[in-house]
Amino acid sequence: MKNNNNVIELRDIHKVYKMGGEDVHALQGVSLNIKRGEFVAIMGPSGSGKTTLMNIIGLLDKPSSGDYNLDGKNVNRISKSEQAEIRNQEIGFVFQAFNLLPRTNVIDNVLLPTIYGENGDSRERALGLIEKLGLSDVAHHKSNQLSGGQIQRVAIARALIMEPSITIADEPTGNLDSVTSTEIMEVFREINGEGATVVLITHERELAAWADRTVKLLDGRIMEG
Ligand code: ADP
Ligand code: MG
Repeated sequence: MKNNNNVIELRDIHKVYKMGGEDVHALQGVSLNIKRGEFVAIMGPSGSGKTTLMNIIGLLDKPSSGDYNLDGKNVNRISKSEQAEIRNQEIGFVFQAFNLLPRTNVIDNVLLPTIYGENGDSRERALGLIEKLGLSDVAHHKSNQLSGGQIQRVAIARALIMEPSITIADEPTGNLDSVTSTEIMEVFREINGEGATVVLITHERELAAWADRTVKLLDGRIMEG
């Protein structure tokens, strides 16, 4: 069943949360293929299931039912530790509210994920990413001395340090002005041009326009895409 074209294959994914005795149907039968090297935007209003879908794609959460193949491997029934390993090796996350270590400099914040899989070249790679993201001047600054746009760029560098095949960004420019948002989108386009698969979650049409393809979610179902 291995399909080298699709890096992500979701089949009839449902997610039900239990909330004080009530079922919340966050995803109601989502099927979605994403090809290796695609840049896909997932759009939808608040509450439509975007973050739930991101958490499932990123192996931070499991679906209640349905099948998920990641890179040709069925990841439905893998152990938590296998999940964590695949996540660390294959997936880079960029969140809106990103937690950098406040009294730690930019370089060490970028290097944080390598603690789990140290590699002699990682410091050099961190410096390369810092340069690419326009952060060289602040590389030795502590993260509590940075602007919002700089923090978000550190978050992207940190997401990319393990050279993930898939980068997932959940509303990554939520608190940023439009100039900075554009710069962040340019970074995603650039890494996508280098072969990375990018999944961008957003509720803004202008940001989704940066992607090759837009998938629309409404009430836990795909409307288009
Ligand atoms: P979005 O990111 O599009 O705003 P979410 O995936 O966060 O949507 O939420 C989808 C639905 O699932 C919403 O109704 C939300 O209230 C509910 N939900 C999300 N996370 C949880 C949770 N941990 N427990 C219970 N309900 C949740
Ligand atoms: Mg969300």
